[in-house]
Amino acid sequence: MTIADDIFAIYNSRGSASYFGEPVSVTEHGLQTAFFAQEARASAALVLAALLHDIGHLVVDTPDDIAEWTDDAHHERIGAGWLSRRFGREVSEPVRLHVPAKRYLCATRPEYFGKLSPASVLTLELQGGLMTNTEIAAFEAEPFHGDAVRLREWDDRGKIAGLETPGLESYRELIETRLL
Ligand code: FE
Repeated sequence: MTIADDIFAIYNSRGSASYFGEPVSVTEHGLQTAFFAQEARASAALVLAALLHDIGHLVVDTPDDIAEWTDDAHHERIGAGWLSRRFGREVSEPVRLHVPAKRYLCATRPEYFGKLSPASVLTLELQGGLMTNTEIAAFEAEPFHGDAVRLREWDDRGKIAGLETPGLESYRELIETRLL
């Protein structure tokens, strides 16, 4: 099994659950997020981070019905940890920071909050709400915070029922070439 086979097996066995209150599955959501990253001509590493940003939801045991999750399961840290053992920091760090990026954008761009989906507003509270000024400064000191903010914006858009995108297999080469 290659790393791509491993990743595809994870998505194929667990990624068909609906994505916390959204009209797409976890797999469709990742594919749409990566699709928007490619459309924005993001680097190969950032496209990969976009594709795999929610893998933390799939590599731990969580209730089958994602709507029953009572906390956010800290999926960004679980996912980043999993990715950091297989890929470079330019892949794992934007993933680790994609939830803080939402708290950051809500605190620094008033118009951003209004664009969040209802499910995303709900999880914002579980994730700690708006960032404080101290947290904002710490976030801006993170080397990959800019990538995390870009990833966040594709993440927020990647919830379109029925949007056709390239499938997992189209990312095989990207995955195999971004290894540590
Ligand atoms: Fe996401």
